[in-house]
Amino acid sequence: MNLLVLGPQGAGKGTQAKRIAVDYAIPHISTGDMFRAAIAAQTELGKQVEPLLAAGTLVPDEITVALIRERLGHEDARRGFLLDGFPRNAAQAEFFLENFDIDAVIAIELPEEAAIARMQSRRLCSSCGLDYNLIQLRPKVPDVCDNCGGRLVTRADDTPEAIRARLRDYREKTQPILDLLREKELIVTVDGTPGPDVVQAEMRLKLGLVPGAVESLAAREPVEVA
Ligand code: ADP
Ligand code: ZN
Repeated sequence: MNLLVLGPQGAGKGTQAKRIAVDYAIPHISTGDMFRAAIAAQTELGKQVEPLLAAGTLVPDEITVALIRERLGHEDARRGFLLDGFPRNAAQAEFFLENFDIDAVIAIELPEEAAIARMQSRRLCSSCGLDYNLIQLRPKVPDVCDNCGGRLVTRADDTPEAIRARLRDYREKTQPILDLLREKELIVTVDGTPGPDVVQAEMRLKLGLVPGAVESLAAREPVEVA
């Protein structure tokens, strides 16, 4: 089962994707998480992309495509994967469609004002990477990760300038590829405005994902769910 999740920053892609991936035993592959891990480890890749992420600028396609090609070649991705943060522009979408099959594309919708408010209240675990939101997804203990006890921090790219740059890229580069994907694939659109549990339930309902029926997706005809 190969799934893609698309949506503006702050729509909750990572939060939703992690839950689905755990339940369906497929890897959650997030290009943003991979770049942040590389930065944390100060690898060559990390040093190269650090200023780009801090500014909210897209990493060049050659680098991103190579990273995805390598990651999707791993054994654990053979049964399927849930891709988050890729493809993000027309060139990446073309590469993806030429090389991989997609069972469904989940598009999470969120108005821009809500996206800005969410990013400003977002916190991230500095050790396991889990996302929190001080409005809708608060940690049990302030500034401490529920999952691993790590310290919660603000993302380096959740500054007003970087937020503006990322939302502009989403609008101008990522949103148009939804039309390209819509022509070929199953697109499931969900409203990202409510809290994470509601969004997750709507997503599963529309995907026809009931535990134990993982194969149901592949058998479905492409339909558009509004
Ligand atoms: P967000 O969706 O909140 O911007 P991500 O974690 O998905 O956050 O991505 C963080 C940053 O990583 C992006 O701003 C960009 O610099 C880089 N990045 C992630 N995915 C891609 C991609 N597919 N192509 C180019 N750059 C990417
Ligand atoms: Zn943690």
